[in-house]
Amino acid sequence: MVEEVQLLGTLKEHFGFERFRPLQRQIIDSVFEGNDNLVIMPTGGGKSICFQLPAVLLPGVTLVISPLIALMKDQVDGLTANGIPAAFLNSSQKEAEQQEIFSKLAQNEIKLLYVAPESLQYIDTVFSAGKISLIAIDEAHCISSWGHDFRPAYTQLGYLKNRYPSTPVIALTATADKATRKDICDQLNIPNAKKFVASFDRKNLSLEVRPGIKKFEQIYSFLKPRRDESGIVYCLSRKSTEELSAKLKAKGFKAEAYHAGLSHAERVQFQEDFINDKTQIICATIAFGMGIDKSNVRWVIHYNLPKNLEGYYQEIGRAGRDGLPSSTLLFHSYADVVQLQKFAENSGNSEVQLAKLERMKQYSEALSCRRKILLSYFGELISEDCGNCDVCRNPPEFFDGTVLAQKALSTIYRLKEEEPISVVIDVLRGAQNSQIIEKGYQHIKTFGIANDVSWRDWQQYMIQLMNHGYVEIAFHDKNKLRLTSLAKKVLFEQHSVQLADVKKVEIKQTQTIAEEKTADSLFERLRKLRLELAKEEGIPAYLIFNDATLKEMEKERPISDAEFMQINGVGRQKMQNYGYRFIKEIIGFGEEKQTKKKPRSKGDTYKATLELSKEGLGIEEISQKRGLAATTIFSHLTKLFEAGEDIDLQQYISKTDLEAVKKGKKELDNPSSLKTYFEHFQESMDYNTIRLALTILGKEEKIES
Ligand code: ADP
Ligand code: ZN
Repeated sequence: MVEEVQLLGTLKEHFGFERFRPLQRQIIDSVFEGNDNLVIMPTGGGKSICFQLPAVLLPGVTLVISPLIALMKDQVDGLTANGIPAAFLNSSQKEAEQQEIFSKLAQNEIKLLYVAPESLQYIDTVFSAGKISLIAIDEAHCISSWGHDFRPAYTQLGYLKNRYPSTPVIALTATADKATRKDICDQLNIPNAKKFVASFDRKNLSLEVRPGIKKFEQIYSFLKPRRDESGIVYCLSRKSTEELSAKLKAKGFKAEAYHAGLSHAERVQFQEDFINDKTQIICATIAFGMGIDKSNVRWVIHYNLPKNLEGYYQEIGRAGRDGLPSSTLLFHSYADVVQLQKFAENSGNSEVQLAKLERMKQYSEALSCRRKILLSYFGELISEDCGNCDVCRNPPEFFDGTVLAQKALSTIYRLKEEEPISVVIDVLRGAQNSQIIEKGYQHIKTFGIANDVSWRDWQQYMIQLMNHGYVEIAFHDKNKLRLTSLAKKVLFEQHSVQLADVKKVEIKQTQTIAEEKTADSLFERLRKLRLELAKEEGIPAYLIFNDATLKEMEKERPISDAEFMQINGVGRQKMQNYGYRFIKEIIGFGEEKQTKKKPRSKGDTYKATLELSKEGLGIEEISQKRGLAATTIFSHLTKLFEAGEDIDLQQYISKTDLEAVKKGKKELDNPSSLKTYFEHFQESMDYNTIRLALTILGKEEKIES
């Protein structure tokens, strides 16, 4: 067992987090006890820490099996940004590159090694090169043909436990159903694995379902207040991804279509641009997203009905991994149901597929809290309504719909149960189209008896009648509507029917907690800075800090290293690499705001620092006198200096240090990051001193040129 303080210390130092999320701690303890483990956690629940944190503390290397190269690269970049040595092996690498990894392994210089299941041929070499302390199998459901992302190469993984029985295994997945879980343990040969099932409730995701009419208009108004936010639209067909992305582009959004028909290179490119915030919106078939850990996806739209709740939940789960409020919107249409029904019927295990589709349909037609329905599907019961779904926010009102129901049911009866929903509605509304006239339906007694209800509303009421069990669709027989025995009670026994009022579907924005965002907020400024840094380093922006961390910076406004380190999401390495730039931005922002409020006080705070410096006070002394952090004073002085004030910065740095930096700058060929210097001096010179020296040298160079 590892002590609590050490675990929390590592969590903060290396990952920047203050506390564990539910179950993380228990899982990590179990890993240290040497157990095999099966971890079921929803997407965004925080699975990675469960093996990454033990990896930092365990003596040898942790081998991570991960399905996609993009995913591996992302995780390795994230670990590197946190100062944790990690690498990945795959077949596209050059021999020399791989040799280097093996020799690092032998010297115990890698803590996490990512390998694709297709590259298992390396495993014996890996095992002989270094000590493997733990084997992690990410996206473990890929092993099961029950799951929805089956990958044949995963089935070889059972080999690992047989070959290396004493190395503990941790398998992780977001797929909850029991058959898949059992399959994972069987196939991985970990029958005694401890099972951890986290709550699937993702409270930060708002849930909303709307009728699928005028979808583009609805999407456009949904997106208007979300101009800069990343999101994904899932479509059923390639064609709709292309049409939709073209329309969005025409409206000025940075959108791309993503589907199986693209070349591999295109797919990689689009995915990368999305990860790096260059493309804002991806319109995708289901092929997109599995390899994406992007934490700042703010919304997900389902353009079409998904075929089951597992897929739906996994897809909406890609929003809001950072825990911030995020929106999800599903368009529900009868046409989609019919199409999916056909797919399901033609699939291998049609019974299961049809049952799953039925649950999906029930969810989208729900008249009570959607989250309750969703979670109960995953075996979780919540006692209270969630308050963050459209039904909770806008609960339906019921009325006595007996007469309306009788009209509909008797029309179906008079049509001899021979017609689909569209014809039934046409008859109810007295439509004069050719089909009706040809068949002579205008002579039916109920023709036109309910033309005061719109076509769309009738569709909704019909769906309710189906859900109440009065009507069935004969999917095998041209989707004709059939009456059930319950319907007879309504028609002949005065059985009363409660219906939910079909509210006018206004094309309005979702009422999510869309926060007021001005281009000039500190958050926006920090986002920009983050993007700049990401470009400098060639890694995705969210790997530097996620949105939640930036939000906390905005709220707490840290202006010293110590305060900065208190922010959730800031670990030691990131503080050293980025602290200065962020603090500078925060201070600069505060001062600008002050200036705007009180125009006459412009530069007052600088002036105060300047005066004290002219009196000959040292940084420590100025910082104490002014009650500001030393880093802030450094920032004042360098700014003043750069602005041309006559200050002698050299008094704050020794000649030897200045010379050393000057020499380092030449030797290192003028690197862009302070970290390079920091490492060059083997951490013997602090960041403030390096910065100061560079400011002085920068000015000298200007004068020379
Ligand atoms: P999963 O693999 O389960 O989908 P991740 O491991 O990618 O989820 O974690 C999702 C997000 O949650 C990431 O942005 C991660 O940094 C963050 N996270 C994980 N653990 C914690 C924690 N203990 N405190 C705060 N944030 C966390
Ligand atoms: Zn709800």
